[in-house]
Amino acid sequence: MAFTLLALPYADTALDPAISAQTFSFHYGKHHQAYIDKMNAAIDGTDHADKSMEEIVAASRGSNQGLFNNAAQSWNHGFYWHSLAPSETAPSAELTDMINDAFGSVDELKKQLADRGAGHFASGWVWLAEKDGKLSIEETHDGDTLADSGFNPLLTVDVWEHAYYLDHQNARPAYLSAVIGGHLNWSFASENLARGSVWVYPN
Ligand code: FE
Repeated sequence: MAFTLLALPYADTALDPAISAQTFSFHYGKHHQAYIDKMNAAIDGTDHADKSMEEIVAASRGSNQGLFNNAAQSWNHGFYWHSLAPSETAPSAELTDMINDAFGSVDELKKQLADRGAGHFASGWVWLAEKDGKLSIEETHDGDTLADSGFNPLLTVDVWEHAYYLDHQNARPAYLSAVIGGHLNWSFASENLARGSVWVYPN
C-alpha cells in the first residue's frame, strides 16, 4: 500500500508569521512529500508493502537505515503538523493535572520545551511524551522517532533548520518562541493521552 501525504489540518497561512506559507510549501510540500515518496519507493514489492507506517518504522529500525529514516520522518512530520494549531488549544483536565504534577504549570512546560529544543544539538525533535502514567520531555536526533519507543508521544516540535530558516533564519529560539508560545495543539496532545496508544498516521 502506497502512503499519501496527509492533508494539512489548517490552511498554509494559518500559522503565519511563526510559520509562513512559504515554509509550508517547502517543509510540507517538498520535504515531507519526499520522505513519503522515498518510503513508498523503498517498500514497493517488498515484505513491507502491506504494513502500516508504524510497523515499517519498527521493522526497519536498526536493520534498514534508509527506509527507517524516510518512514520515521514521514510519521514525525504528520505528527508535527497535528501538534500545531492556528491558535493554541486547551489541554483536557486530565492532561492539565498531569502537566501541573510533572512541571508545575503549562507555562513552565512550554518554557522547558523551548529550552530543550533550543539546546538540542543539530537536527532533531523535541517531544512531550507519556510513559507509565508520567509525562516527560524527550529528544530524538535527526530522523529518529518516538513512534515505536515505548512512549506515547503527545506532541512534538521539529527543530531541524528546514523548519525555521525561511522565517527566522538561523534563530531557532525565535522559531520555538513563536510556535511554542502560540501554536501548540493541546487538544491533539489530550486525545493522544486519552487514547493511551500511539497515534496512527492516517492513510
Ligand atoms: Fe522537518
